[in-house]
Amino acid sequence: MRTAVLVINSGSSSMKYQLVDVDEGTAVASGLIERIGPSTANAEHHFAGNTTVFQGEIEDHAAALRVMQQLFIESGRPLRSAALTAVGHRVVHGGAIFGDPVVVDSTVLQQIRDLSSLAPLHNPANATGIEQATRAFPGIPQVAVFDTAFFRTLPAAAYTYAIDRTVAAEHRIRRYGFHGTSHQYVSQQVAIALGRDVEELDQIVLHLGNGASVSAIRGGVAVETSMGLTPLEGLVMGTRSGDLDPGALLHLLRSGLDVDQLDTLLNRQSGLLGLSGVNDFRDLARRIADGDAEAELAQQVYCHRVRKYIGAYLAVLGGADVITFTAGVGENAAAVRAQILSGLEGLGISVDDARNSVRSPDARIISPDGSPVTVMVVPTNEELAIARASARLVANGAVAGSSRHALRSKGKAQP
Ligand code: AMP
Repeated sequence: MRTAVLVINSGSSSMKYQLVDVDEGTAVASGLIERIGPSTANAEHHFAGNTTVFQGEIEDHAAALRVMQQLFIESGRPLRSAALTAVGHRVVHGGAIFGDPVVVDSTVLQQIRDLSSLAPLHNPANATGIEQATRAFPGIPQVAVFDTAFFRTLPAAAYTYAIDRTVAAEHRIRRYGFHGTSHQYVSQQVAIALGRDVEELDQIVLHLGNGASVSAIRGGVAVETSMGLTPLEGLVMGTRSGDLDPGALLHLLRSGLDVDQLDTLLNRQSGLLGLSGVNDFRDLARRIADGDAEAELAQQVYCHRVRKYIGAYLAVLGGADVITFTAGVGENAAAVRAQILSGLEGLGISVDDARNSVRSPDARIISPDGSPVTVMVVPTNEELAIARASARLVANGAVAGSSRHALRSKGKAQP
């Protein structure tokens, strides 16, 4: 392995990681540490077809990194032997400051923390993960890759909320978009799979996982996306409401809910969970098969919302060449894909039942041959995209605090 990047995705009480062989484009090892904090934590480490587990207290992210390193040792493949090129971190909110990936120094770390008011669930945990990884891996460049970056190209008409512009400016209220690493990666994979240049294609990408978002991409450049100031806007998600009349929030506040209760309601108790009691589509499918009317309605609300966005984005783009499903639901739930696109033949969009029911880890077309709009399923791989971006930045000789923007002006950046 010539270029090894450890990718870390830190949540408030969890840490996902993957050791990526960038030259091969493969995951060498991966793991998930859950319930970091005062309760009993679980860690699972996967390497060479084997799983190594840990159960016990992991009090904070520093301890989580120690457990991770120990699990690498126990699995027989210590991290030390990987000769890391970089550690790449998923950072959810880059605000209006960060676009391209950046090597983290103390200024960048503080800027990521300063953006916490825009992503209170994510940025503090991301910053803590970077801080601890800097201590755990001295001398190895720590690279931040921002979830918002791909959407920095949204036109003002798409990112501006129609509220008082002074208030908006003071509180940095605008649409930023999230899941950008996934949307960008998938749109590029679509072009590769079709043997086309990404510049030639107008695409709609549906990232349907526990979080869900849709983007409109013209010639490789993002022009619309469903998530906004925060990852709460847009589609119905596992536990998040997506779009809601802002008047409903005022009504609930006046009815006595406080801000934290509202936050919990909208982020953790809404979406599929709020409608049906379960947030996983596999459980929802079982309930629907048992004749559960609430589960049935939850799926209908979910699919209806996605269809509304497809219609809107077809109008934004003036028609699309490709519509692509990705992430946990998009890659696996054939019935949901079929339901979302049913009845859209008049728009040139249809799904071939036999192709749609094939289960495969590969990028594939699920529309009939000759369809005006190509419908695809393309697995996302945010870790690989983060690892590649990190390796590229370091290979370009980036130093702490610099990004590809800075390097590009010196004519060193790769395309
Ligand atoms: P992600 O956030 O991309 O990991 O997606 C997680 C979600 O994908 C889960 O909450 C499930 O709703 C959904 N999912 C994963 N596997 C399947 C499957 N085999 N069938 C249906 N839904 C699935």
